[in-house]
Amino acid sequence: MRIARFSIDGNVAFGAVEGGTAPGAEGELVLDIIKGIPFADFELSGTKVPLSKVRLLPPVLPNKVVAVGRNYAEHAAELGNAAFDEQGRPEAPLTFFKPSTSVVGPGDPITYPSFTQDLHHEAELAVVIGRMCREVPRERVKDVILGYTCANDVTARDVQQREKQWARAKGFDSACPLGPWIETGLDPAAIAEGLAVQCTVNGEQRQLGSTRDMIRSVEDLVVHITEAMTLLPGDVILTGTPAGVGPLNVGDEVAVTIEGIGTLTNKVIKRG
Ligand code: MG
Repeated sequence: MRIARFSIDGNVAFGAVEGGTAPGAEGELVLDIIKGIPFADFELSGTKVPLSKVRLLPPVLPNKVVAVGRNYAEHAAELGNAAFDEQGRPEAPLTFFKPSTSVVGPGDPITYPSFTQDLHHEAELAVVIGRMCREVPRERVKDVILGYTCANDVTARDVQQREKQWARAKGFDSACPLGPWIETGLDPAAIAEGLAVQCTVNGEQRQLGSTRDMIRSVEDLVVHITEAMTLLPGDVILTGTPAGVGPLNVGDEVAVTIEGIGTLTNKVIKRG
């Protein structure tokens, strides 16, 4: 099931996305409004609204976004860094936070920050946590995941290189587009060839990788992160980006597409 969060006539609700998924056929999609919230048992109301009549919102409002750096070998190599091994890989998963205020939804603008001259896209598979959990054993990881969505770990690369902690480089407002919805019927680990993770800028391909090439799996990451902290329903884990990161400029349209999920599109705007 695909679960979207949306607003219509000033009201916010969750809905199950139904209908065709072919590119360009979004107008034919409808939302069956969910009674309640998707983090507990819920029912579909049977009341349907066309997707074209609503504004999609970030599919969740996370308490926190825990992100993982350098989780694809080729991307680790393209960044390089003396602090890591000779292939640029961290010895343990490299984790950092993006604040809740960095989250924006599909179609929302990414505002180019005043303090960077090198804004980058990073297409990533995002894990949406479905229930409160800590110290999750490997065999229970599936039980705490509600589903998956697309993310863009937008990064001020020059600031990331200049500042030891990445709170500003990766935590500014609009640095975490999420969406377009949560796919609950997907298990990347069960798909041998992985899920294709793609980023385009103005329609031109910049990144194309596969979740099969993640250094640490979703399972590894949930175990590692929950050793340290409680995850709440709606919290999000960003699983790292494949190779091909590059600059975004004002006016660019950046799209993250993940196989089996959908496409998250955002436009970069000038700070007003
Ligand atoms: Mg990243």
